[in-house]
Amino acid sequence: MTSLRSGAATDTGQVRSNNQDAVLIAEPVFAVADGMGGHAAGEIASQVAVESLQESEVTSLDSLVEAVREANRSVWQRASDDPELHGMGTTLCAIALVPGEAGGGDQVVVVNVGDSRVYQLHDGELTQLTDDHSLVEDLVREGRLSPQEARTHPQRNILTRVLGNDSDVEVDSWLVDLHRGDRFLLCSDGLFNEVDDDKIASVLRRLADPDDAAHELVTLAVQAGGRDNVSVVVVDVVDHDGPGAGAATAVAGAPTATADRAADTASMPAVEPSEGTGGGGGGAPARAGAAPASARATAEPAASPRRVTWRSVLFVTGVVAVLMGAAGAVAWYARSTYHVGVRDDQVAILRGRPGGLLWIQPTLAESTDLSLDDVPDGRRDAVLRGKKEPSLAAARDYVESLEDQAEAERRRTTTTTTTTSTTIPLRPPAPPPPR
Ligand code: MN
Repeated sequence: MTSLRSGAATDTGQVRSNNQDAVLIAEPVFAVADGMGGHAAGEIASQVAVESLQESEVTSLDSLVEAVREANRSVWQRASDDPELHGMGTTLCAIALVPGEAGGGDQVVVVNVGDSRVYQLHDGELTQLTDDHSLVEDLVREGRLSPQEARTHPQRNILTRVLGNDSDVEVDSWLVDLHRGDRFLLCSDGLFNEVDDDKIASVLRRLADPDDAAHELVTLAVQAGGRDNVSVVVVDVVDHDGPGAGAATAVAGAPTATADRAADTASMPAVEPSEGTGGGGGGAPARAGAAPASARATAEPAASPRRVTWRSVLFVTGVVAVLMGAAGAVAWYARSTYHVGVRDDQVAILRGRPGGLLWIQPTLAESTDLSLDDVPDGRRDAVLRGKKEPSLAAARDYVESLEDQAEAERRRTTTTTTTTSTTIPLRPPAPPPPR
């Protein structure tokens, strides 16, 4: 049996005129959504998403992923139906308590689309569980931007994945083991763009009550500038027993697309309607008392641009649309192919055009164990120039053919050696052993 306690807070901040974030506290499901779009559209997008999620029955990782896809369809449908809402979208990150596999202890599933985040505080250590789907985070992952540069990058508002942009969406998901005392934090970017992870961790360690912690974090973000809406949900594991209890490790590292979990009919904690343990709880935004601006030294520009998706940008301004459309087309073209090339003297599969195109350089899609030296002589030039392939699978096939040929040549060399060595002995071969 696992019991949870939760708290939440959200605030418009000091710059925005409305709050486009939405939070959901509907045990066993908790979520934060950060909407975007002109006028009221962003508010509607995030609200539609959390309402859709609230209506879904979540008993497993797969069902939570499916619930997010359903939420995406709801936002997409609403945006398609209403011209005023075209281009709206929303991030959505969520966690849900689910029964463990095969009678094991309860577990938490985590899902994410966009750049809201889920963190876990375990033994006082704060770990970010989700990956942001933003342009700058892509660049950080590719090693082309430092995390520090990302925080102030002028294009940090561009998301690469949101709900509502298409009829379907890819959902990242994780399965996390639970321990009594664990604390989960869900937040919109309005928190972590204003308050660094160390400060967030210290607040989460210091304030035992989840609602106090949520309100304190929101207050800090508003005081630090409050350039965006900020929303925080804190979920505590106050009781937990079962195999996961007290175990040492906490987190599955990489997103899992599938979980192979049987449809679990084990009893779940009753689904309760939104119930925070204080002023900030529930699905409705609540103000956390706007604090006066306290100018904190920061390298960031004064105003951070409202976040947009490619789609809403296209909708909002025609000129920008054409420019960005062209840029997008170039980016698509530049990255629409793979090639087999070289990284650090190893053969590698790279995404993009050999040598890059305009400002878009190829990025590493997959490394291989094959070193350039092992590549057969006749094919080394092609690899050095970059062998274009239409797909990742085709590139893998090409690498495989290189490996096969390299292996064949290695074997031929070995065979030659063996042949030579077997001809050297002057003695006649030994007689066959007695049977
Ligand atoms: Mn935001």
